[in-house]
Amino acid sequence: DGILRTARTLAIGRGYIAAGGGIDRLSFAPADWPALVTSGALVETRISMTDAAAALAGATVPVPPGEGDFLHLWTGLIDPPAVGQNLLGQQAFTSAVGSLGPGETVLVLISSGAFSHRGTDWKRSGAFERVTVVQGDTRLHPDAGGYSMVKRLAIAGAPEVKEISLFRLPPEIDPLEPFRVEVRATRPAPAGEVAASVGADYRLPDAYRLAPVAEPEALWREIWAEKRVETGIVVAMLAVLTLILFAQEWITRRPKLWLLSRAGFLATTLFVLGWGLNGQLSVVQVIAFVHSLLTGFRWETFLIEPVIFLLWSFTALGMLFWGRGVYCGWLCPFGALQELLNLAARRLGVKQLAVPQALHERLWVIKYTLFVGLLALSFYSMRDALVMAEAEPFKTAISLRMWRAWPFVLYVIVLLGAGLFIERFYCRYLCPLGAGIAIPAKLKVFDWLKRRPQCGRECRLCETKCTVGAIDPLGRINANECVLCLRCQVVMNDPGICPVLKRRARGAEGVPA
Ligand code: SF4
Ligand code: SF4
Repeated sequence: DGILRTARTLAIGRGYIAAGGGIDRLSFAPADWPALVTSGALVETRISMTDAAAALAGATVPVPPGEGDFLHLWTGLIDPPAVGQNLLGQQAFTSAVGSLGPGETVLVLISSGAFSHRGTDWKRSGAFERVTVVQGDTRLHPDAGGYSMVKRLAIAGAPEVKEISLFRLPPEIDPLEPFRVEVRATRPAPAGEVAASVGADYRLPDAYRLAPVAEPEALWREIWAEKRVETGIVVAMLAVLTLILFAQEWITRRPKLWLLSRAGFLATTLFVLGWGLNGQLSVVQVIAFVHSLLTGFRWETFLIEPVIFLLWSFTALGMLFWGRGVYCGWLCPFGALQELLNLAARRLGVKQLAVPQALHERLWVIKYTLFVGLLALSFYSMRDALVMAEAEPFKTAISLRMWRAWPFVLYVIVLLGAGLFIERFYCRYLCPLGAGIAIPAKLKVFDWLKRRPQCGRECRLCETKCTVGAIDPLGRINANECVLCLRCQVVMNDPGICPVLKRRARGAEGVPA
């Protein structure tokens, strides 16, 4: 539903479809011939032999008067399946409307009687000059290129007819406005030509129109109102996270509180935000954002998904203040899944692998290359970029909750399996989204993560404990890699762990260091 709504909003925004409703090309309900005629889907007109004889009086070959039909005509647009599919059957209907270009529609003319609405001149001239479609100042004869003949009607209750023609109408004929279909019969006369016309006024009945869609702005407002509960939950989570970040010094001096709040928050991120509300950001949104900046930014396009919009807004603001860790460390459901699984693995005694620093830093290149490659590819082919974005396991693990074809599931299992031995393996080396939001890390305003002068020189404990290996052997924190988990702050504030604090304590007690 969300995807369809987004697509519709984008289509309206780009002018592919009218904002004021359109032909209902989706609804279908079985109907018979009398129902279509009664509903106005087919309009009917006729001229008897007697009337035609009068109109064509003086013709070299006169029309004999009589009670029969000179022309009995039914016409209308077949684009709504409720009309076309009932009239022609599914296969013929699909082939009639399947190749329509933007703004094109299909008009059917069904007739019986002595006169042919098609004639044969069109084979020579390339246009059906007997038929004219009139709308305002526009008058056109259907051309032969857009014509197809139908042999029989599939609908129940249809009368015996002689000719069935489908004509593709160009966008100049607005299907939502009334138009007239005229059929003109001419006969040579000694003084030139005599003619008789029969016309049917057509207007697409309301039953086959979409209700006018709300303006995109109204649409997003409506969605936000609908998703009040979801947005409330996300806002509450963001408020709690803001509190944690502002109170980080106080929290990190209490290791148990830190562990409890971190594990609790990550579990909420995974179960509520991820699996519950589908609040997983993706590199695809970064690409869409870049493209929208280049092709015309519209707030409505992004406001249409409230949870994602809130997450991106907070992430953007958080990146400016604290760096990408605001999202990666706390709000990414897949990041949370990896960290919680690794926490469980370590509790179960799974030995962690230490990646040598030189290799560790070289492996970072993969995620940045993936990000740049995806962005570059999107300018060449958005479709290929979307396929390549499957490098992200989010869709499988979070959006589809592992209900997917086995190769995708296997890929996620391999990543999570690697994460049991190397914490946040995917975040460290592969995540293009993490790479994308790490790039502006140097812009961050606050640097609240503390270091001691002894870090890296006398002690490298934080380096070994860091969730993603963001601390280098000199004890410096790499802002591009740090996920703001605060673990190093807990270590450096814990007098039972940090060697510098231990030494100070021993000094205070007069114990020789
Ligand atoms: S690096 Fe990627 S997977 Fe890891 S937390 Fe950040 S966005 Fe999520
Ligand atoms: S341990 Fe420290 S440096 Fe490493 S990710 Fe957490 S906050 Fe950042």
